[in-house]
Amino acid sequence: MAASQTLQDTLLTAIRTIPDYPKPGILFRDITTLLGNARAFRRAVDELVHPYAGAKIDKIAGIEARGFILGGAMAHQLSSGFIPIRKKGKLPHDTVRVAYSLEYGIDEMEMHRDAVTPGEKVILVDDLIATGGTAEGAVKLLRQMGAEIVAACFVIDLPDLGGRARLEALGVDVNTLIAFEGD
Ligand code: AMP
Repeated sequence: MAASQTLQDTLLTAIRTIPDYPKPGILFRDITTLLGNARAFRRAVDELVHPYAGAKIDKIAGIEARGFILGGAMAHQLSSGFIPIRKKGKLPHDTVRVAYSLEYGIDEMEMHRDAVTPGEKVILVDDLIATGGTAEGAVKLLRQMGAEIVAACFVIDLPDLGGRARLEALGVDVNTLIAFEGD
């Protein structure tokens, strides 16, 4: 059996799908079951960091909240620092803020102004990319502070929602482990 099939099987089995959450018509891809499965969690993190083994990555930037869990593990494995990108009002020091689009309306996210030194190589991570609005906001924040974004990584891609294409149009390399059709 090819290694890629094994990865797909591992992820398919470990990710739980909850219909009609948080509202009717949405298929929520729940990674808490993946995080709770030691083998699947390790495998997912190993695959996320694999392309960057041996590269000098200064920081991993994780998007609140599931991006913190994956990003912390990736940072440890790559010997990188970690940057939390949070919903507005949560960070205690001087911040930079960006508005980003949600399905209905907009929200704002922040990072500490001193979290990145210009020229640092940063990998962005979240559990899932759908429309790409959240990740695009994070890319803008990081670039505003002078980060060089090496890639954006996600366990799950929902390609029908166009997020990957949206990030690629910004010149960001996108790395995902599994795709689900539909939204
Ligand atoms: P987007 O900005 O549309 O790319 O949405 C990405 C963010 O929303 C990520 O932080 C995801 O955790 C969350 N998200 C969007 N759609 C789903 C879904 N179907 N299942 C689980 N999380 C989702």
